[in-house]
Amino acid sequence: MANRHNYEEFGPSYRQLISDIEKEIKPIHEAVSVTAEKNQLKVLDAFRGWNVGEDDFASSTGYGYNEAGREKTEAIYAAIFGGEKALVRPQLVSGTHAITCCLYGILRPGDSFLSVTGTPYESIRPAMGLYSVEEQGSLADFKITYLEIDLITETKARDAAGTIKKIKDYKGNKAIKMVYVQRSRGYSLRPALTIDDLEFLTKQIKTVLPETVIFVDNCYGEFVETREPLEAGADLIAGSLIKNPGGGISPGGGYIVGKAALVDKAAARLTAPGLGAALGPTYGLNRYILQGLFLAPHFVAEALKAASFAALLFKKSGFNVYPDYSEYRGDIVQAVELKTPERITGFCEEIQKYSPVDSFLTPVPAPMPGYKNNIIMAGGTFVQGASLELSADAPLIPPYVVYLQGGL
Ligand SMILES: *Cc1c(COP(=O)(O)O)cnc(C)c1O
Repeated sequence: MANRHNYEEFGPSYRQLISDIEKEIKPIHEAVSVTAEKNQLKVLDAFRGWNVGEDDFASSTGYGYNEAGREKTEAIYAAIFGGEKALVRPQLVSGTHAITCCLYGILRPGDSFLSVTGTPYESIRPAMGLYSVEEQGSLADFKITYLEIDLITETKARDAAGTIKKIKDYKGNKAIKMVYVQRSRGYSLRPALTIDDLEFLTKQIKTVLPETVIFVDNCYGEFVETREPLEAGADLIAGSLIKNPGGGISPGGGYIVGKAALVDKAAARLTAPGLGAALGPTYGLNRYILQGLFLAPHFVAEALKAASFAALLFKKSGFNVYPDYSEYRGDIVQAVELKTPERITGFCEEIQKYSPVDSFLTPVPAPMPGYKNNIIMAGGTFVQGASLELSADAPLIPPYVVYLQGGL
């Protein structure tokens, strides 16, 4: 047996340090538990309300017309996230795919979309045409214009006059079909949006651009608070089932929830116009998707507890942490500024070494599809790339920040 050890190996002061930290963050953990309980009740109510039964775990084949379990799963997602309609599909291969289905489904040549939270998450950028317009049919290749402001960094999302003015500066361009909001920090040090921030933002946006579709990339935000973006004025949200709402159980997939007409447009992009949401068997995954959703509020809470623990541990060790351990959180990500590439690599190696799966492997920085910089990922996870499971990743660029998340 390799790697056998006990706590004493970490040094005699280790236990004391852990117990000091746990004492200090106890009130934070208690608040997290209250949120988890409310969310758990919301999820349980939806399962009961829709009479989830053993039969719903069966799936159809072929076209997948009228698959009862899938339809129930989607009705439950719509209820929990506050939308009229949902798509919850293994055919959505990732969060990026779900998000791009929304973009391509809604935007048309001549339209523009305005990101108000800076440049969207790395893996969305190739589809926007930020690196190469023509390659593989980016939005830019379809004559869809991208505009960007960063209201979070510039105004902390709470400067009403500033926000309205900035959006008005773009209003000359009548064709802003969509405003794009990213809830989580992504690979940046700006804070995640809270639902209150988002509500403030959607109100300002709607006063200036009443017809615009407000889309929210909801990755890493699900169940962190007791309300979700559609309850704060957003029109459409999307995310990944190997993050929060998959509860660590779903082996893959993505979701889209929002106004029915918008979800239908995204569905037409996922399958084909005319087919939309009517097609798509789940290949026996309904049980995992539903069980994961049921467990999600608890494991999101575990992830939030791990994040505040890590924040205080690394703060005490002299590192800058974002957010601080006691800050109110809008997502499950904990950023730690390690300052050198060697520490990034070392950190990820340790996370990998103490993982239940692939503990014997060594992560190395490497190119990843959709990412411009080399990325190192520690993911000793049951589901490849899953990040509600304890995981860490980082682009190997200054200021050398590692992003830690997960609680499984
Ligand atoms: C992870 C993530 C995505 C993309 O999701 P994948 O499932 O990795 O494709 C998009 N936006 C944010 C903020 C994310 O954290």
